[in-house]
Amino acid sequence: MIIIGFIFSTLLIALVSLLALFSINDNLNKCYKYFGEIISKSLAIESVEITRGLPKSTVHNTLRTHAISILKTNEDIAFIEFRDENDNIIYSSKTDKMCPQRSARINVASSMLSYDAGGQKIVGTVSIGLTGSVIDSISFMTRLSLIIAFLICWLTIGSIIITNAILAMRELNLLYDGVKRLSSGEFGYKLDSKDGSRVVRELYKAFNDMSDKLRSYNESSVESLMLEKNKFEAILMSIANGVIVCDSNDNVLLVNEHAKHLLDVTDNEILRTNIRQYCDNNGIDAFKEKIDEFKNTPIVEMSDKPLEFNIDVSEKILKAVISPMFLQSGEYVGYIIVLIDVTKEVEMDRLRSQFVSNVSHELRTPVTVLRTYSDTLANMGDEFDYNTQKEFLGIMNKEIIRLNDMVNDILDFSRYEANTVKLEKEMRDVTEVVQECVSRAKILAEEKHLQFVVMIEPNLPEIPINYESIVRALMNLITNAIKYSDENTIVKVRAEKFSDYIVLAVTDQGTGISEENQKKVFDRFFRVENSAHTVKGTGLGLHLVKITVEKHHKGEVFVQSKLGEGSTFGFKLPTAEKLAELENMEDANLV
Ligand code: ADP
Repeated sequence: MIIIGFIFSTLLIALVSLLALFSINDNLNKCYKYFGEIISKSLAIESVEITRGLPKSTVHNTLRTHAISILKTNEDIAFIEFRDENDNIIYSSKTDKMCPQRSARINVASSMLSYDAGGQKIVGTVSIGLTGSVIDSISFMTRLSLIIAFLICWLTIGSIIITNAILAMRELNLLYDGVKRLSSGEFGYKLDSKDGSRVVRELYKAFNDMSDKLRSYNESSVESLMLEKNKFEAILMSIANGVIVCDSNDNVLLVNEHAKHLLDVTDNEILRTNIRQYCDNNGIDAFKEKIDEFKNTPIVEMSDKPLEFNIDVSEKILKAVISPMFLQSGEYVGYIIVLIDVTKEVEMDRLRSQFVSNVSHELRTPVTVLRTYSDTLANMGDEFDYNTQKEFLGIMNKEIIRLNDMVNDILDFSRYEANTVKLEKEMRDVTEVVQECVSRAKILAEEKHLQFVVMIEPNLPEIPINYESIVRALMNLITNAIKYSDENTIVKVRAEKFSDYIVLAVTDQGTGISEENQKKVFDRFFRVENSAHTVKGTGLGLHLVKITVEKHHKGEVFVQSKLGEGSTFGFKLPTAEKLAELENMEDANLV
């Protein structure tokens, strides 16, 4: 465009210049012709004047002298010629060697007029030839000045166009650079809008406004995206279960803290790895088989009923639930594995089934004994003497007591665990509790040749207790101490005040319990499974003690034990004031 404009303006200037030149030349020629006519007319008048009254013989010379003087002083005149009224040449400078010979371009003739009484009369003609040298020099000068003017014009316009083009290109380049930066994400980039024309300044200002708006839009959308991402991550992280998000190629995209803790891995060990390669305790791919099964199941089926399975990892049993993951458009993009620690539940299930088998066994033994002895007495009672019959009845009575205790334990267990049951308390001296328990357990202790040592702090205050349940709790500790002690050892029963509590404790010199098992002995159904503990039981006793003491008396159970050396099991019960204080606190917490 610029080049075309430049060429066009050049041609226009050239054309205008040529037209001006032609018109100047034309006018010059006309002027020159008038100039010739004026000269010839004035020469005619002069000639008439200078020859008036002269004899014919001198006219020639006079005109010649006049013509020579004119030709010598006027280079523009090529020749002068005088003719008489009959058109005969009087004088012609063309044939006069005294006159400079010049070629004529324009010929002009004027009549020589004489005025007398008879009026005006033509006495001859004057012809002059004009060389045209003035016109030549004038037209040369005109052309030269026109060319110079044209060049100046052309150069001025050209330089203006080129300067403008360079400036426009520079501004366009700046704008192009700015747009490129914006498109590459450099939102907020600004162009210096101080220089340049008004239009460019406005264009740059509009660009800067757009850049600012893009930046703030970008910031706000990035901010809201970050907010959403953070929210999502916070939710994922705060989920109590482990969550692993995988893409359709089984690569781990996201994993929350709980999942890392459950699988005992760090970010580096699991993120962006293939989940199928994760191994369980036994070095077997924990998820591979199930993920294959998941992938072979139709997605619709899988969405309705996610795949569930258990894996053993780091001494934990984890339940894994795999569910497919879709975009809003419905496109399948991967799956989510939720991990739940079910170690306790699995352990509880195991304990519960063991409890059932223990209870069955515990029940069968006394029932069998009772049946055998009652059958024997019924069928052959007469054959036995009184003492033997009494012995049989004594054995049967012991089994009935065992049965009764066990059934009571089972009944108390469900009763005490229920939140609806509230044990009535009365102010009692724990000394009575200790004495009753010791006297009840005496026979059992004697059978094993155990020695009872009872230490009761004098003047213990009465405290609010449910007498029956506390007797059964202490009884449980004492019977355990007898059960798990070797023959000829000592069992100590202690009752003392400690701060706002009365402490009851039973110490034996029995098998003892490992530190790990000490943490679990008060759990329901828990029994220590090792060779030392061949004694049968239900695993309910200590749990009942715990509920009785902690739930119903706001007390606390404790155990101190060392394997092979013995154990101290006990509990502390709050005094009346302390109990009131604890109950108030509990009420306040509930509100
Ligand atoms: P049970 O005695 O019927 O098995 P308990 O709840 O009374 O159930 O006891 C739980 C477990 O705690 C017992 O199986 C036993 O292994 C352990 N235990 C309880 N008391 C003692 C003790 N005094 N010495 C050693 N082990 C004990």
